[in-house]
Amino acid sequence: MRRPFIAGNWKMNLSRADSQVLAQELAKELAAGVECDVAICPPFVYLETVRTALGASSISLGAQDMYPEPAGAFTGEISPTMLLDLDCQYVILGHSERRHILGETDEQVYIKTCSAIAAGIKPIVCVGETLADRQEGRTADVVKSQFEGSLAALEESQFQQVTIAYEPVWAIGTGEVATPDQAEEVHADLRTLIQTRYNTQIAEATRIQYGGSVKPDNVRDLMGQANIDGALVGGASLAADSFLGIVRGAIAH
Ligand code: PEP
Repeated sequence: MRRPFIAGNWKMNLSRADSQVLAQELAKELAAGVECDVAICPPFVYLETVRTALGASSISLGAQDMYPEPAGAFTGEISPTMLLDLDCQYVILGHSERRHILGETDEQVYIKTCSAIAAGIKPIVCVGETLADRQEGRTADVVKSQFEGSLAALEESQFQQVTIAYEPVWAIGTGEVATPDQAEEVHADLRTLIQTRYNTQIAEATRIQYGGSVKPDNVRDLMGQANIDGALVGGASLAADSFLGIVRGAIAH
């Protein structure tokens, strides 16, 4: 049985004061002993504020991206060493906004994933098809090729540190959620890909989150699917009520 994992991706939102209040509200409600892993991923500039606000709660801190080198002349970038310094346990890599707006490639996602693992940070690696891919029947091929390009060259011991987030691009921030059946089909494909590349034990242990307009009122149905182990949440992670509703739904499903 895989433990549910809900992660909030705040993207480029909130002020420092809002970040602090939201983290404090979440920390108060998720103090300890929650039957679900929970992480929040604020913008880099608020990591320290959020870390302090989370205090001794059960919520982990994550970042939304990182540069793969530990240090050096990379103006504007943030290293895994810096993230570790701020107690980040997770990093989101290959989010569709980075792939599609900033042109990040599978190869870059793979290099970042290796670097995060080497530093001791657990990557949440995103894959997912565009609307055109889905309409043209290419969903399975696109997800397979992202899996192969971003992940499949990892050694077993590296891969065991990875959470995969299946995020259909057409469902991100649009209010349009994949049906539980649509999501489950891709999650099951991903688990088969993991089994084929690695083995059954690793495939059974790997957590695969769904992301794309997850809300308190749809999380239970999604989590009711055999291969959906949690959610990567954008918009609904920006308010305590909706994020806590999703965490509670994931626990209760
Ligand atoms: C995301 O950005 O990872 C995401 C899933 O966003 P939203 O929940 O807003 O669709």
